[in-house]
Parts: sequence; C-alpha cells; structure tokens
Amino acid sequence: MTIRLFDTYTRSLRDFAPLHPPEVGLYCCGPTVYDYAHIGNLRTYIFEDVLRRTLEFNGYRVKHVVNITDVGHLVSDADTGEDKMEKGSRRTGESAWQIAEKYTQAFKHDLCALNVLEPAVWCKATDHIADQIDAIRRIEAQRFTYRTSDGIYFDTSRLPDYGHLARLDIEGLQAGARIDAAEKRHPTDFALWKFSPPDQKRQMEWDSPWGVGFPGWHIECSAMSARYLGPFFDIHCGGEDHIPVHHTNEIAQTEAMHGTRLANFWLHGYFLQLGDARMAKSAGEFLRLQTLIDRGYDPMAYRFLCLGAHYRARLNFTWDSLDGATTALNRLRAAAHEWGAPGAIDEEFAAKFTARITDDLNLPRAVALVWELVKSDLLAAMKRATLLHFDRVLGLRLADWQPADEVIPDDILRLAEQRHQARAAKHWQEADALRAQVVAAGYEIEDTPNGPRVRARK
Ligand code: AMP
Ligand code: ZN
Repeated sequence: MTIRLFDTYTRSLRDFAPLHPPEVGLYCCGPTVYDYAHIGNLRTYIFEDVLRRTLEFNGYRVKHVVNITDVGHLVSDADTGEDKMEKGSRRTGESAWQIAEKYTQAFKHDLCALNVLEPAVWCKATDHIADQIDAIRRIEAQRFTYRTSDGIYFDTSRLPDYGHLARLDIEGLQAGARIDAAEKRHPTDFALWKFSPPDQKRQMEWDSPWGVGFPGWHIECSAMSARYLGPFFDIHCGGEDHIPVHHTNEIAQTEAMHGTRLANFWLHGYFLQLGDARMAKSAGEFLRLQTLIDRGYDPMAYRFLCLGAHYRARLNFTWDSLDGATTALNRLRAAAHEWGAPGAIDEEFAAKFTARITDDLNLPRAVALVWELVKSDLLAAMKRATLLHFDRVLGLRLADWQPADEVIPDDILRLAEQRHQARAAKHWQEADALRAQVVAAGYEIEDTPNGPRVRARK
C-alpha cells in the first residue's frame, strides 16, 4: 500500500518511497531540556510515533533518531538573549548539566507512559560538539559565514532559495527589519557559533577555531542528522513552530555543506493549544503529563485524545475533551476484554484501516473505523484480533489491559478467610455454608494455586 504524506517543503501530498528501501531514515527534533515537557510537546512526539508505527506496519525498517537539545537554544529566535539551559540553571539552582540530565530522564519517562516507541538513536548536542565544529568549518569553506563581535553567522543572502520551506517573504522581512539588528547583515542570518561573553564563564563552553563558545541551536540538527542518517535522508519532523526558523535554517546549512535539502519529506505536527493560547514552555505555566496523572487521568487517555485529531489540525485542549477520551477509551477496553481470546483478523476491516492510516495518517478516520468494528456483527474472537492488529499503530496497549480489581468489602474478605480456615481444618460443611454466604452477597471465590481469590460475580 502506498503511503501518502503531506510534505511541507512542496506543500503537497506526495507518495512516499524510501531512498534506500526497506530502511527509512526518520529524524525528529527533540526537546530542549531546561524544563519538563508539556502536553503540547508530547502531542508532537505522539504524532511522530504514529508516523513511525505506520511505516513499520507497512513493512519498512525505521531508523528513528531523536536529538536532545542540551545547549545553544537561546531564549529568542533572533539569536539574542540567554541560553535556555543556563537560564534554567539560574531558576533551579542546579547546574546546566544536572538539569539537562534530569529533564531528559523526565522526558523519556513521559514517552514511555504514552507508549511512544524508543528511538534507535538518542543524540545529545553536547556529545557532538566536534561534529558541529566540523559542519561549521565546511560551511565556512563554502564562504557562507561571517564574523561579528559575538559569533560566527550564516549569511542567508548567499542562498537564492533561502526560506523556501516557510515561503518566507525575504524582501518584506528586510524592509521591516529594525536598524539595530545587532551586527547581523540580514535579519534572517543566524548564529552558527556564539562566543562566550568576555566577562563571564559559561557552564557549557568549548574551544573552537573561532574562539571559546558554544554552537547555535540549528547546527546541531544538521550535524547530528548527517552523522546518523547521512546528508539526505527520508523524513524530518517537528512541530509547526519549527517551519519558519529552525528547519529553514537547518536546510540552509545542509544546502551550503552538502547541496541537499536535508530530507526528502518534511512533516510538521500542529500545535496543541490551551484556550486560544499556544502552549509554550516559556509561558511559565503549562500542563505536564504528570499534572494529568495527578488529577486521576490515564496517560493512554491523552494519547487517545490526540489520535482523535489530525496531526495537521490544531487541537484545543480542554478537561472535558480529556474526560470524553477517558470514557471512550474505557468503553473500548471493556469491549475488547469481553471479546476474549483473539481469532483471525477480518481482512476487510484490515484493508480499510491500512487505507486510512496511509492517507496522510488519517487517525481520526482510523479511530472511527474502530467504533464500526465494535458495532459490527463479527465474531468476538475476530473483533479482538482485528483490534489488536490496529493497535500496532494506535499504540493503546489494548492487549495488556485488564479490568482493575474491584474493591471487595472487608466482611466478604473475612467470610472468605473463615472458609479458607474451615477447609484447611477439613470442616467441609462449615466451608460450604460460608461460601454460600459469599455467593449470596454477589461474590464468588476462586481457588487458585496462590490461595483463594474473591471476585464480584458478573
Ligand atoms: P522544544 O522542547 O520547545 O524544543 O519542543 C519540542 C517539540 O515540541 C518540538 O517539535 C516543537 O515543535 C514541539 N512543540 C512545542 N510546543 C508545542 C505545542 N504547543 N503543541 C505541539 N507541539 C509543540
Ligand atoms: Zn532540529
């Protein structure tokens, strides 16, 4: 089945074909680890996970690479302001290295709770400084750089199609630029290497051919994706905010170095919003996955909520919608549990499912198909097998789900214990009478190798 994906670079739906089948190189921009991930960030990783699962479902072998931005991401996209890591360090009192480690672990923990598959490669910017210096040298050798008092910059005017990804209006930007745009020659120019401030020792800084400092944020992705996937690979992903600056600049760097536009397909996940506002880490207050868990929600309900919206549509988060997703997911789980052991997959449903997910990951329609399956008159065993087949892409952990053990009242547990003692003493009549009382109260006792177990009767 051909997979059609919307490529931001060409603004069109294109048939996907890997450059080196059956392998697919997939690079996803990772988190800036100066704070916890919010549920907006996590929506993007769920989208990328569904993309990966869809590729694997269709027989491809995905080499999934995710970076960890632990240096160089400045507070302002205009290459001014503090490094987010150093700012995080001031906020928490821990070192930049400590907070990078802490928030990286917290991020991985969230992904695990959401059943996002582990990438083949995690790469940290601070582990790849030499690769980044090497990349900047290549760009310099192609005469795309200039030096200012605070760093080495990329001269975007040297690339005729700079900004194509975002359809940037370069002339308009130039006309509207403030005169005091530091020493940058053009408003779209960006830092490849920043010098440490002369009066200050940064926690994270390195020697380089240009002076002590640190790499810019964009160069890490061009350098690390080339290391693990080569200078032209299949799919590059990120959130929609990356289109005008970060990905535009990644493409510019790689065009300067290698003459390629970095990736064959560019896919972007649209934002999760809270009310009318974008959810942003820098806004200070944001919802974490842990906030949802603390309020009694299951992380899978959040995943299910995300599956209900197309990745190219913004999604407005409300507690009501999370309640709705919780109810629906529990209904689905209960139905799937009732169906018992899986039998054969229904081929007609399976074909429809594949058609929907390969149509630019139309998960809302794939979820609608799940409800059609629930309502259908197929045999229970077939329904279960078909649903578990779908769950390879949905990732809702439906195979593992068990109803939570019901709370059994103390007096019933006491009766069951007395019966257990009676049996041990071979007082059969007494044991039978006690069991009858338990049954009359609506419970049953199952004698298992680990001792008796009390359950509510269905
Ligand atoms: P960051 O940690 O800010 O570098 O972002 C990590 C990922 O989350 C990137 O792919 C961003 O594009 C994405 N992202 C940031 N904010 C949101 C949001 N509100 N909704 C969805 N994705 C987001
Ligand atoms: Zn990136």
